Amino acid sequence: MTNHTACRDKSSILLIYTGGTIGMKEDPALQALTPFDFSQILEEVPELGKFAYRIDSCTFDPLIDSSDIEPAHWVALARIIEENYDRYDGFVVLHGTDTMAYSASALSFMTEGLTKPVIFTGSQLPIGAPRTDGKENLISSVEIAAAKDSEGHAIVPEVCICFDNLLMRGNRTSKASSDNFRAFRSENLPPLAEAGISIRYNTQLIRKPEDWDAAPKFHKELDTKVSILKIHPGITPQVVRNILCGPETRAVILETYGAGNSPSKQWFTQLVHEASEKGKIMLNISQCRAGSVNMDIYATGKCLKDAGVVSGYDCTTESALAKLFHLMGKSTDNGTVKAGLEKNLRGEISK
Ligand code: ASP
Repeated sequence: MTNHTACRDKSSILLIYTGGTIGMKEDPALQALTPFDFSQILEEVPELGKFAYRIDSCTFDPLIDSSDIEPAHWVALARIIEENYDRYDGFVVLHGTDTMAYSASALSFMTEGLTKPVIFTGSQLPIGAPRTDGKENLISSVEIAAAKDSEGHAIVPEVCICFDNLLMRGNRTSKASSDNFRAFRSENLPPLAEAGISIRYNTQLIRKPEDWDAAPKFHKELDTKVSILKIHPGITPQVVRNILCGPETRAVILETYGAGNSPSKQWFTQLVHEASEKGKIMLNISQCRAGSVNMDIYATGKCLKDAGVVSGYDCTTESALAKLFHLMGKSTDNGTVKAGLEKNLRGEISK
């Protein structure tokens, strides 16, 4: 962990730099973008010095393109936040956009009872590029991470993604564009804040801890034995069997059509029943970006429910994966995991 200090006063923020486009530049030898040193990021954003905040930073070593992110990196992030929790008012995580929605979802489940903001951000263009979106994203994230109400409590004590002037609950987001500055969408929950001339907070949507004085819990146990089965026309029994019934799989996310529907062919239903009998946890997540699973509308959805498939409601796939890793890491009992899936743990479902 490397520390750089920009300015000392009032609110204190820890910037955690993991890598990603925001901190990359063209390597002439490779003719590709590679990460560069964090101190150069601060040089590119002298505006940060205008805040009366103490801004310290630490960097991952090595820095990573977020396509290489692994659950072990989430544990490392949770550990950094836990170890520094009492020393800072908020945390800003600089992260590549490719898997930011997965990481923000994971950190939301790994932190329980947060009283301080954890804001993920990054950019589509490197911070040194003339038209970079990185500066604005970073400056808004720092301001939001430091924001407090009249009682001195954090305005947004949640894990969020701040991107292109929108603050979104992290576990509600998906990366929606590889080239537009509005890279992330939160289809099933409006933004928690919008940055215009001032930052307007959607306070009734923001989650608050039950007890501001209680220390948050950090859950670092993750069980990653999860597979994702995306249903599509032409899918074969062999593919479905391999994914649903594989010995390495403890849980399967079924990415279904519309309101949670799957093919009604007999072989498909039989395989779902077989997987259920083998004790597999099956979670129904819609391929639609907006809206919710409801297995009571169509016969094809009812079949899944009858076979013991659990509704994912309006959860994103990214969040469902993280929720399963977290719940399975905490319990070896599949009944307990299924009961946890039904609950709204961190605002990830509208229930
Ligand atoms: N490949 C990069 C990453 O996810 C893309 C980005 O940061 O936008 O690390």
